[in-house]
Amino acid sequence: MENAGEYIRENIRNVAIIAHVDHGKTTLVDAMLKQSGIFRENEQVQERVMDSNDLERERGITILAKNTAITYKNIKINIVDTPGHADFGGEVERVLGMVDGVLLLVDSFEGTMPQTRFVLRKALQANLKPIVVINKIDRPEARPVEVVDEVLELFIELGADDEQLDFPVVYASAREGYALYNLNDDPKNLEPLFETLINHIPAPKGFMDKPLQLLVSNIDYDDYVGRIAVGRIERGMIKTGQQAALCKKDGSIENVKISRLYVFSGLKRIEADSAMMGDIVAVSGISNINIGETICNVDAPEPLPFIEIEEPTITMT
Ligand code: GDP
Repeated sequence: MENAGEYIRENIRNVAIIAHVDHGKTTLVDAMLKQSGIFRENEQVQERVMDSNDLERERGITILAKNTAITYKNIKINIVDTPGHADFGGEVERVLGMVDGVLLLVDSFEGTMPQTRFVLRKALQANLKPIVVINKIDRPEARPVEVVDEVLELFIELGADDEQLDFPVVYASAREGYALYNLNDDPKNLEPLFETLINHIPAPKGFMDKPLQLLVSNIDYDDYVGRIAVGRIERGMIKTGQQAALCKKDGSIENVKISRLYVFSGLKRIEADSAMMGDIVAVSGISNINIGETICNVDAPEPLPFIEIEEPTITMT
C-alpha cells in the first residue's frame, strides 16, 4: 500500500516538445493553440508570440523554455518548449523534470539529426515515454516510413527500454494543421495528436495532502514583477499570500512570501489564488530565488533533489 493517499490529476497533462532545430516545434505549438478552440467553444485564438524574445530572434533558435497551456476536452495540457541546441543541455534536463512525457518531433524528410539524438537521450534517461511525431509530411520529398525506422534505430541505440520502444507514432503537418494515425488517413485536424497525447502521457500523480514542494526549474523576468520562478508542484498546495520556506542549495532556509502566483493559459501567465500538486506554476515576489531551489511549507522545509548542471554559455555579439 505504498501509494496510498496518492492523487491523480486526470484533467492535466504536462508535456515537453523535443526536436532538432527547424523540425517544427514552434509551428506545431502555434497550430495546437489555434485548434484548441475547435474542440472547446469560446476559446480565443492565440497570437503567435513564441519567438518574441529578442535574444531568440537574434540567434534564430529557441533559447528560453516557454510555457504554453492548451485546453483540449477539459484537459489542461501544459506544454514546455525545450531548446533544440546542445549548448543548452542543462535547460533540457530541467524542463524534462517538469513533465510526464514528451513529443519527439522529427522532420519526415531530414530524419533524425544530432539534436534529435541529444534530446531523445535526455528524455530516455529521464524515464519518459516519448510519442513520436513525424512532421512535415506535406513535403513532396517526405519519407515518413523510413524516418520512423530511423527513429526506432535511434531508440535502440540509445538503450530505450521495452516500454519506451513501444512508442506511438503520429504523422503531422504542423504547417497545415493536421495529424494522422496512419499515412493513408484523410487529413482533417490535429485531433489524432491531441488524443494520442492525452491517452499516452500520464496525468500528474502525487500527494495532495502533504506539505508543499515546488521545485524551481526555470527563471523568467518581467518588467513589472521582476524575477519569476517557474516550476512544478511536486507535492501539496500553494496559495497566494502564504508564507513559505525557500530551501536554498547551500542548505539554508529563507522565509519568503508568495506575493503572486500564476498558472499558464494559452501563451499567457494568469494570476491564480492557489494551485496544487501537478500544476506548473510561476511565482513572483522572491527577488533572490534561483533554479534548483525548493519552495516548501514553513513547518516542513524538505528540499527536493536537484541535479546540478552547468549553466549554458550564451555569447551575445
Ligand atoms: P522550430 O525551430 O522547431 O521551432 O521550427 P519552426 O516551427 O520554426 O519551423 C521551421 C521551418 O519549418 C519553418 O519555415 C516552418 O514554416 C517549417 N515547417 C514547420 N512545420 C512544417 C510542416 O509541417 N510542413 C512544412 N512543409 N514546413 C513546416
